Amino acid sequence: MQARRLTKQISVGDSRVGIIRIGGGLPGRDGVATLPAPVSVQTMTAGYTWDIDACVREINKLAAAGADVVRVAVPEKKDTEALKHIIPQVSVPIVADVHFHFQRALEAVESGVHKIRLNPGNIQDRDQVVEVIRACKAKGLPIRVGVNEGSIIERKDKQKRMKELGKVFSDHKHGYLLAIMIAKLEEYLDIFYEEDFHDISISAKSMDAALVVDAYTEISRRFDHPLHLGVTHAGPKETGTIRSVVALGGLLINGIGDTIRISYANDPIYEVEDGLELLYCLGLRERIGVDLIACPTCGRIQVDLFTLIQDVRKALANRVTVPMKVAVMGCIVNGPGEAEGADVAVFAGDRRGIIYVQGEKVANVPEAEILDRLLAECLAFQDRVRRGEVKLGDKKVQIIPPDPSGDLGSGWEKVAAGDVQRKDVSLTVKGL
Ligand code: SF4
Repeated sequence: MQARRLTKQISVGDSRVGIIRIGGGLPGRDGVATLPAPVSVQTMTAGYTWDIDACVREINKLAAAGADVVRVAVPEKKDTEALKHIIPQVSVPIVADVHFHFQRALEAVESGVHKIRLNPGNIQDRDQVVEVIRACKAKGLPIRVGVNEGSIIERKDKQKRMKELGKVFSDHKHGYLLAIMIAKLEEYLDIFYEEDFHDISISAKSMDAALVVDAYTEISRRFDHPLHLGVTHAGPKETGTIRSVVALGGLLINGIGDTIRISYANDPIYEVEDGLELLYCLGLRERIGVDLIACPTCGRIQVDLFTLIQDVRKALANRVTVPMKVAVMGCIVNGPGEAEGADVAVFAGDRRGIIYVQGEKVANVPEAEILDRLLAECLAFQDRVRRGEVKLGDKKVQIIPPDPSGDLGSGWEKVAAGDVQRKDVSLTVKGL
C-alpha cells in the first residue's frame, strides 16, 4: 500500500447530520495542516426524490448500512422542493446531483442540501456556473466537479490544449479521452479559482476500468483536490463488482482516492456493503461487524456449507458489531488452520460442527444445530470483548485436529465423537 496522497480537505454535512471530511493532509485556509480523513463511502438513491417518504426510507436504510454520504437526483423542481422535507428526516449528509439545469443547484442550496455535484459536460455557461459557485460559497457548501466520459463534449476553443495534452498522453491507450477530461477539468476549475472557491472534489468516471485508473492517476498529479472514485455504469452487480474493485482497489492501493462510490444496476445497499468491504480489505477503514472467512468447498465437504455460510452471514449481520473474525470451514483439512486464526470458528466433520472460540473447543454439535450454537458463541464472545474480558485475535491454544491420514485412526470418527486433540506435532495430510 502506498501512502495516501495529500490533498486539500472538504467537509460535507452539518451539526445535525454530522460532518464527513473528505481528503486532507494539506494545510487548510487557516494554514493549519489537516489530517487525512478515512476514505468515505457514498451511494445514490435509486427512487424518485419527489416521493418524499420513500426517499427518506431509502436514505435511512443506506445510512444504516454504513453510507457516509448519500446523493439524490434532482432533475425537476419538485425534487429540489422535496429536499426541504427530506433533509430534516435523515441522518447523513445529502448531495444534490445536478445535470443540465443550474437552477436545480440553486434550489437545492436553498432547500438545505449539503453539497452539489456539477457536470462540466452539461452545465457549461460560465455565468450559470458562477451563480452556483457563489450560492455554495455563501453557505459554505462544497461542490464536486464530475467529468464523466459519457458526457464530455469537445469544444473548438479547447482543440489546441487537447492537442498538447494528447501528445503528453500519446502512450496511453485512451490518450485522446484523457486529454479531453484534463482539458475540461482545467477549463472548469479556472472558473472556481477565479471566484476564490476551493471547496472542491473531483471525479472522472468511465465505464472502462483501465481508463478510470489512468484518468484518476493523471488528475492526482495535476490537482490537489480530494478525489471521488467511481466506475460509472459498471453494470449489474455480478460483473460490476469486478470492474469497480479492479479500478478503485488499484487506485486506493496507490494512495489515490478519498471517497468512493461503487455503482451497480441493483439495490444501492450493495454499493454500500461492497464499498465498505473494499475499504476493510485494504485496511483503509476500521471494520464494523464480522470478518467472515469461509472455504470454497470441495469434494471433502462434510456439511451443506453454502447454505450454512449464508445463514451465518445473515444471522450475524445486525447482531455483531465487534470486528471479530469468524471462520466457517467445510472439513478438517483447512478448517483447523483457519479456526486457529479466527476468534470464533466452526469446521465440519461427518455432518457435525466442531466449534472453537479463540482456539479452544467449546462444542461438537449435529449439522442442524451448528447455526444456533455458532450464533450463541459469537454473541457471548462479543459480550466478553465489550466487558474487556478477552481481546480480539488473542488466540489461546493451537488446534490440532484429528489426523485424517491414519496415524491417529479415523479422523472422521474422532470428529464425530468430539475428540479433537491438542498435540505438539503439526498435522501432515498425505497427498495434499
Ligand atoms: S476446508 Fe475442506 S471442504 Fe473446504 S475447501 Fe478446504 S478441503 Fe475442501
